[in-house]
Amino acid sequence: MPMMTAEQYEESLRQLNLVVHMFGKRVENVVDDPIIRPSMKAVAKTYELAHLPEHEDIMTAMSHITGKKINRFTHIHQSIGDLVKKSKMGRLLGRETGCCFQRCVGMDALNALSIVTFNIDEKYGTEYYKRFLKYLEYVQENDLTCDGAMTDPKGDRSLPPHRQPDPDQYVHVVEEKKEGIVVRGAKAHQTGAVNSHEVIVMPTIAMREEDKDYAVSFALPSDAEGIIYIMGRQSCDTRKLEGDTIDRGNMLFGGHEALVVFDNVFVPWDRIFMYKEYDFAGQLVENFAAYHRQSYACKVGVGDVLIGAAQTVAEYNGAAKASHIKDKTVEMNHLNETLYCGCIACASEGHKEPSGTYNVNILLANVHKHNVTRFPFEIARLAQDIAGGLMVTMPSDMDLRSPDTGKWLEKYLKANSDIPTENRMRILRLIENITLGTAAVGYLTESMHGAGSPQAQRIMISRRENMQEKQRAARKLCGIEES
Ligand code: SF4
Ligand code: FE
Repeated sequence: MPMMTAEQYEESLRQLNLVVHMFGKRVENVVDDPIIRPSMKAVAKTYELAHLPEHEDIMTAMSHITGKKINRFTHIHQSIGDLVKKSKMGRLLGRETGCCFQRCVGMDALNALSIVTFNIDEKYGTEYYKRFLKYLEYVQENDLTCDGAMTDPKGDRSLPPHRQPDPDQYVHVVEEKKEGIVVRGAKAHQTGAVNSHEVIVMPTIAMREEDKDYAVSFALPSDAEGIIYIMGRQSCDTRKLEGDTIDRGNMLFGGHEALVVFDNVFVPWDRIFMYKEYDFAGQLVENFAAYHRQSYACKVGVGDVLIGAAQTVAEYNGAAKASHIKDKTVEMNHLNETLYCGCIACASEGHKEPSGTYNVNILLANVHKHNVTRFPFEIARLAQDIAGGLMVTMPSDMDLRSPDTGKWLEKYLKANSDIPTENRMRILRLIENITLGTAAVGYLTESMHGAGSPQAQRIMISRRENMQEKQRAARKLCGIEES
């Protein structure tokens, strides 16, 4: 089934037997859990849009291995055009869901592996690329969602993996068998983990020979024996337990993260894509990070929603014509479109790798993500400015429905008399959701730390800034002779 529908995707998740814990209990029915379900619906959107003629060009691609039409989330980029469409797809889905739709990490892991497995084979004569292509075909043929798992807990940051007092702070090989290996450790902050069919594990840092047991990359079914998911909490998450109340803000979608524990998990050889080639760990990290930094096109789409919400509440308040409001929405759009420039630019300046995969411009992808660590915070600040304090002092949906208090809220929360009070409350709750509630995980904190914290991008920028060329240009213009 090279392209599942949203319904088929949901059904396919019901076949999984994941071990998920939340609020101190095992979650028996993951798909229907009221806290998790909105995040599943966000991933389902990536399946739904692929079937709509108006989004076909952006959401689908032709597989370079089978020639079949596939969902772009399982595609290996074959051109600059593919990379640009990937950025546009991120913005589209961010705007459609108003949250993190989770499926990018797997796409980015597949593309990074398509580069690095080829390069390892070139150096060592191994057969990882062939293995990888076989796995890729399985992912494409079944239209799977993969969790791209990179971030280890990391323990004491001053120590490399092999010197950690607890050796499990980084995922590592604990046993080698005839049929495969046994691994142990954990991956933290895993976006969309329990909505995934597969988990693709990669190392999290560049490594030296002493760390070679940690230089391992592999893919497993998400319900493989020994994998345990512990759901992350989000601010205001239990509002989802209150039913369809307007206090949820985003009535349709959400994101999620989980801590994924690998408790002595067996991995067969045909699913291993790096095994102790420590000198390629850094390359895999760098390429995955660059692709994922490009993926932060999603924040432009969520920014679209937030700007739309700010303008709407300004109109509901009767303030939309004020010059300072206009100025603030222009500023929000300026920042948001500047982000868009970055994710389009790193795609447009992409290049072909030896394996044939197109890669983004790594410097520009890092610059883009570095902007993402800042601009959404300013856009959120301006949205809160325009919204006014009511966004956080407003009584609940239950008070609006109560026969005792509803009439007072109807009366005193009314602004523009043409607008129902409930609509004003709804749009304020949406702004609250994106800037303070469950979606703020995706729009703000994830903008800061997802795909690497700001310092990670500054390191990459400093490595690729080409300072000598800039100095040479300056010296030439003022007549300094090159020695
Ligand atoms: Fe995709 Fe953005 Fe979520 Fe990362 S934060 S998984 S790029 S939607
Ligand atoms: Fe992310």
